[in-house]
Amino acid sequence: MSRILLSQPDVTEIEEQFVLDAVRSGWIAPLGPHVDAFEAEVAERVGVRHALALSSGTAALHLALVHLGARPGTVVVLPSMTFAASANAVAYTGAEPVFVDSRAGDGNVDPALLIDAVDTLRAEGREVVAAMMVDLFGRACDYAEIEPALAERGVPLLEDAAEALGATYRGRAAGSFGRAAALSFNGNKIMTTSGGGMLLSDDGDLITHARKLSTQAREPMPWYEHTEIGYNYRLSNVLAALGRGQLTRLDSMIARRREIREMYISALADLPVRFLGEEPGRAHEDDNCWLTTLVVEDPAVDVTEVIATLGDSGIEARHLWKPMHLQPVFAGTQFVGSGVVDDLFVRGLALPSGSALADDDVARVCEQLTGQLAGASG
Ligand SMILES: *Cc1c(COP(=O)(O)O)cnc(C)c1O
Repeated sequence: MSRILLSQPDVTEIEEQFVLDAVRSGWIAPLGPHVDAFEAEVAERVGVRHALALSSGTAALHLALVHLGARPGTVVVLPSMTFAASANAVAYTGAEPVFVDSRAGDGNVDPALLIDAVDTLRAEGREVVAAMMVDLFGRACDYAEIEPALAERGVPLLEDAAEALGATYRGRAAGSFGRAAALSFNGNKIMTTSGGGMLLSDDGDLITHARKLSTQAREPMPWYEHTEIGYNYRLSNVLAALGRGQLTRLDSMIARRREIREMYISALADLPVRFLGEEPGRAHEDDNCWLTTLVVEDPAVDVTEVIATLGDSGIEARHLWKPMHLQPVFAGTQFVGSGVVDDLFVRGLALPSGSALADDDVARVCEQLTGQLAGASG
């Protein structure tokens, strides 16, 4: 039996045709017409004015932070439960990350704690250059609470929508919140360019500056003139072509991930588990369902063992992101909260969710998981 992966790329002949076109057109040298078209298409899809295609989502976060003034002596507030890339981008700038706890319901940052953290830091005289919000596992944060509170305080919101392309919040697309947002097209994300990312914003100056920074910060002079440190962060034309092909299939890939989530919810209904984000009042129709994640509610169950046993039967499940304040590399950083994310980390797991999974694959995962958890008290 083939191995069932967590979130493998879903690529068809449509993408092959796009890549072939890029190669045959001669636009191999990094930039080209597919990059421009990819930027325009994603901007249109998300509903923002400007987009900048980059080599990764991490690069998008990094450039946005540089533009917002992140540097040694300043602070960036962000959720503890996220992929290391969010926090690494802060560390690149020399700013200090301050990590905030999540809500148990969907794992997204707790808005009240976030605002509390901002107020406390500012009362201590710290300069908070940005609050980075992460739309965890493809579900947007509670922006109705976060956006006005940050605006009132003049703290820029940077949306890490790396996992959330195609998700919406009250009718607005993930990637359209705050001063700027980052998308990722890494191999395991909802759609892929093999590796890549995008910075989105309505702020033309921000994108112009980031564009300059992403190509070694060249000044408009007849020779190579530089007044600030630049980076080599652009996306290649060939990879942008792959992205354009994926974008034509984004809606159907999201629909398939939703279907997979629904299969899990109905097949595992009798187990002692709770699905993250499945709360009254907010339907998963808003989420892109990038990963289906759940929390095992029976404390006697060792989730690490469950994941290992699934692995033995050829199924790749994973722990939720290990919180940043528990990571050795971020030892000594400040954490605001009571440890909800510590508990989510111990009790949570992500199930295979890729849009290329067959119904039989999902059934196999459900059968294995039921075998392991059915005996547990529910
Ligand atoms: C994947 C991811 C990133 C980074 O994207 P890359 O394209 O891999 O650099 C950033 N933040 C979160 C939350 C992610 O999941």
